[in-house]
Amino acid sequence: MADELIDIKSMNEKELKDFFEDLGQPKFRAGQVFSWLHKGVKTFDEMTNIPSDLRKKLVQTCYISCAAIEKKLISAYDSTVKYLFSFRDGETVESVVMKYHHGYTICVSTQAGCKMGCDFCATGKGGFRRDLRASEILSQIQTAQQDNGIRISNIVLMGMGEPLDNYDNVIRFLELVSCENGLNIGMRHISLSTCGIVPKIYDLADRKLQLTLSVSLHAPNNEIRSRTMPVNKKYPIEELLKACRYYAEKTGRRISFEYAMIDGVNDSDECARELASRIRGILSHVNLIPVNSVSGSDYRKSRGDRLRSFISILERSGITATVRRTLGSDINASCGQLRSSAAKNKAAKGEITG
Ligand code: SAH
Ligand code: SF4
Repeated sequence: MADELIDIKSMNEKELKDFFEDLGQPKFRAGQVFSWLHKGVKTFDEMTNIPSDLRKKLVQTCYISCAAIEKKLISAYDSTVKYLFSFRDGETVESVVMKYHHGYTICVSTQAGCKMGCDFCATGKGGFRRDLRASEILSQIQTAQQDNGIRISNIVLMGMGEPLDNYDNVIRFLELVSCENGLNIGMRHISLSTCGIVPKIYDLADRKLQLTLSVSLHAPNNEIRSRTMPVNKKYPIEELLKACRYYAEKTGRRISFEYAMIDGVNDSDECARELASRIRGILSHVNLIPVNSVSGSDYRKSRGDRLRSFISILERSGITATVRRTLGSDINASCGQLRSSAAKNKAAKGEITG
């Protein structure tokens, strides 16, 4: 979509300062506008301490990016809330809000769709639409907070998309969301999950941000990993684990290895032993997740006894592992499924062409 308007919510404080200086405005304007944008206003008219002629000028040159609620599902079991949000070009993404004892966590999307094509993932199966802008990642949090009347304390970049494939926008988002005059959510409260874009893991490590890196490993060797995750053909497991080691050493932060347990694919005792020997010595933790079945693939969850055996082999090798608590299981809280079902409904009604 050709867009002449400026995405003002993606600007950082320095860029806003320059912007208002160019308009001949006093220095404090940037701070005022930044603060309104990060409070989550949807229109310039809500910026009551900004003179009306300047507001008019802003309307003509800029837009305020928002995430509008298209659909909302509330879990009957644990009050997890799942949203389908839409942006100004009509593109949609999913977010999930979860309540834990320490507060609210939101899982946000970083892309509409994904290019990585993992075989077990609903988002991967749906293909790629576009990158999200920093403001669009931020807006998911703002709308979720407003809709629920809550303050979100933790963020996981684990929704639709591969964050390290939208690197610049994600880094900009991290800067904005952790800003003192913004939502002020510290890096220690943010996790980023990646399928393993190796060069970007090095780059992230060198930035020494205090965020938690989750790595979607899901297999102990190249043979299985390349079958389920095409990214492994480009960045094989040895290179990925080398980058993880570097990350952990450089930042002192424990890596979280995600491992979706798939019946008969990656859940044997031999897989557990191989995994243990590969990650030994890396400051890390393993999160086992019984795989969610998605339409179009016949993967099934591992049986309970497989999970227990797998975990005990890891623990005997000195590796800490837990089975991830599943929240919102009745609303398909894992991402990609709401969007694809909404697209199917629209297609059935003839609203989507091509
Ligand atoms: N693209 C990033 C982040 C989004 S996916 C990544 O892949 O890490 C978030 C997490 O959900 C990843 O760990 C991903 O592997 C996992 N996932 C995707 N589909 C799944 C499924 N069907 N069952 C269980 N976990 C799944
Ligand atoms: Fe993309 Fe992550 Fe899904 Fe793989 S698991 S297709 S990287 S969203």
